[in-house]
Amino acid sequence: MALTALEIYKLLPKTNCKECGFPTCLAFAMQLAAGKAGIEKCEPASMEAKEKLGAASAPPLPKVTVGTGDGAIILGDEVVLFRHEKTFYHPTAIAVSVSDTLGEEALRERLRGILALSFERVGQMISVDMVAVRCDSSDPARFARIAGGALSGGGKPLLLQGPVAALAAAVKEVGPSRPLLSPPPEEVEDGARLAASAGLPVVVKARGVKGLEAALAAARAAGAKEIVADPMPEDAGQAVADSICIRSLAIAHRAREVAYPTAFDLGGGFPLPFAAACLLVPKYGSLLVLDTADPAEILPLLTLRQNIFTDPQRPIQVEPGIYPIGKATPSSPVLITTNFSLTYFTVRSDIEASRTPAHLLIAECDGMSVLTAWAAGKFTAESIAKILGDSGGIEGQVEHRTLILPGMVARLSGKIEELSGWRVLVGPQESSALPSYLRRLPPAAFLPAHG
Ligand code: SF4
Repeated sequence: MALTALEIYKLLPKTNCKECGFPTCLAFAMQLAAGKAGIEKCEPASMEAKEKLGAASAPPLPKVTVGTGDGAIILGDEVVLFRHEKTFYHPTAIAVSVSDTLGEEALRERLRGILALSFERVGQMISVDMVAVRCDSSDPARFARIAGGALSGGGKPLLLQGPVAALAAAVKEVGPSRPLLSPPPEEVEDGARLAASAGLPVVVKARGVKGLEAALAAARAAGAKEIVADPMPEDAGQAVADSICIRSLAIAHRAREVAYPTAFDLGGGFPLPFAAACLLVPKYGSLLVLDTADPAEILPLLTLRQNIFTDPQRPIQVEPGIYPIGKATPSSPVLITTNFSLTYFTVRSDIEASRTPAHLLIAECDGMSVLTAWAAGKFTAESIAKILGDSGGIEGQVEHRTLILPGMVARLSGKIEELSGWRVLVGPQESSALPSYLRRLPPAAFLPAHG
């Protein structure tokens, strides 16, 4: 059971020396109790206190690493139940399955399809994370060979699903790549022993949260250290209920016995797998396995995941500056917007759609959208005039002095003209109207300032 802040406080030196970065020992104890600080920050604490508090301050959901190097996937290691409390750190990993019954050419084709499930959105590449190799052949040697092919052809961390004999053969082939082993529920202990001896993470499967408790205890007793829990639900409703129950027990109740990242196998005839996946991304699924490699299903899922796993306190931003679009020249239009990534990429793609080369000025607004930044006093006539007048800025790159302002802040136009000496044209309210707006602009709108 987790220690309360008061119980933690009793174990601290109570000198309020501030070495930990907090004003008092009690303030530090409260951070420890909330899992937001580690005891290592309190140098003066006794060894006994450090040992006792080490467990209390460990993350409520352990971290499991699959794969190696830059492509490694982290499962778990979350500290809050709700995104707005802090943030979610490790996005739900998406694995797409391959069967070990595939022939060589079919395997290559399948891997090509999986690798193609990747695209750029708001400046980030998002893609499928893992390949799940299923042992459908009952042939350990074949399974190991296909696992090797999936690793070399896909280059992504592997989830190996099969009987322990097949997993043992595959570990010899791909063990150094640090795959996640997933033995069947009837082989929990043997699978845990194999994982422990190979130093690999393992999925422990058992029906429901109650069933998992016993299976997880058996896996721990067999030596498994890095564990992922699969409650084997029968449908989407049960999957979401199990997932919420496990995460709540882990974070709200610090129930260490079931506090593990979760895996859900939504392949093999699972009903409505896409709907289940869409529910499990926001509701705590750590790893989802799908049989489909259909971009129409995977790409929306990746988009949903990106939206959920951005830090609500730090919107995705782009660097403020001048962005030329197309073959922008000194007589091309100048537009301005804020540095919220979604705003930037939307405006940029709408300008590109107009086929009008342009200069896009991006204002530093802490990643806020236009209206939010205006309301927060960060996108003002003064800040825009300052950007226009910056030495080495846009004035040196264009011959004219005409700015297209987002229609939503049309009220700033007079003040900007007054402060900067630039002429302001009020653009459309919505970025989607930019293509027709830009195409209709008369070339005379951007004549040289002295013309
Ligand atoms: Fe208290 Fe330790 Fe922080 Fe000093 S470093 S204020 S003793 S908790």
